[in-house]
Amino acid sequence: MSNPVFLVSNDDGYRSAGIRLLADCAADLGDAYTVAPDREQSASSHSLTLHRPLRVEPEGRRVWAVDGTPTDCVHLGIRGGILPVEPTMVLSGINLGTNLGDEVTYSGTVAGAMEGCLLGLPAIAFSCMSRDPDGEQLDTLRPWIRAIIEMVLDNGLPRDTLLNVNFPDPRRGPIHGITATHQGKMIYGAQIVEKTDPRDRKYYWIGGEIPTNEQEPGSDVDAVRERMVSVTPIHMNLTDRDYLEALSTLLPSTDD
Ligand code: MN
Repeated sequence: MSNPVFLVSNDDGYRSAGIRLLADCAADLGDAYTVAPDREQSASSHSLTLHRPLRVEPEGRRVWAVDGTPTDCVHLGIRGGILPVEPTMVLSGINLGTNLGDEVTYSGTVAGAMEGCLLGLPAIAFSCMSRDPDGEQLDTLRPWIRAIIEMVLDNGLPRDTLLNVNFPDPRRGPIHGITATHQGKMIYGAQIVEKTDPRDRKYYWIGGEIPTNEQEPGSDVDAVRERMVSVTPIHMNLTDRDYLEALSTLLPSTDD
């Protein structure tokens, strides 16, 4: 089998310590190319830039910075003819901050993996609870990252499924193990700050309070709380199959 070719992206920008570690881990297992935003793009979700041109600047060996979203980066990395070879796997992260439970729907990190998955490649998103780990602390994640990538190299992933990986805070001691989880649930508090600007106009600022997590055994949230590496399979088709049948009986009848 030929060497795997990894396309590495993130939403924290190409300078982030997290993406440098991820690209480094990938380079141990194959060829790693980084195509990532030129600045922080967190919570950009799965947005694709269509209404303005995108610039791609080389930033050293096998690294390109894009003035766009993680989705733009992965799309260009796969379809844009930037890399000298076609990537065979997409890695996104390591995000500094978790992407657990409902956070997944806002996440630019997970969206980078989603774009890879939609374009037919196996894709893994990596996030870490700590927002400011030093290099040595982040380095302790290496064996886990490597083991997860190797598992996917050996076994592939089902079509339309990506992996969402979350690490506990490496600053707070050892990690106890790794576990497969389901997506958990967040509880949102009073998150909106309402104030008045100097011209007497009201403004709102989202994000005043950190949401808490519902405790739920087997969830991504619980696994990270128990200092385990959480690996959640995320499916790209959002249809609620359980409700589909009930819904079809509830819709107004068309034959009258
Ligand atoms: Mn981020």
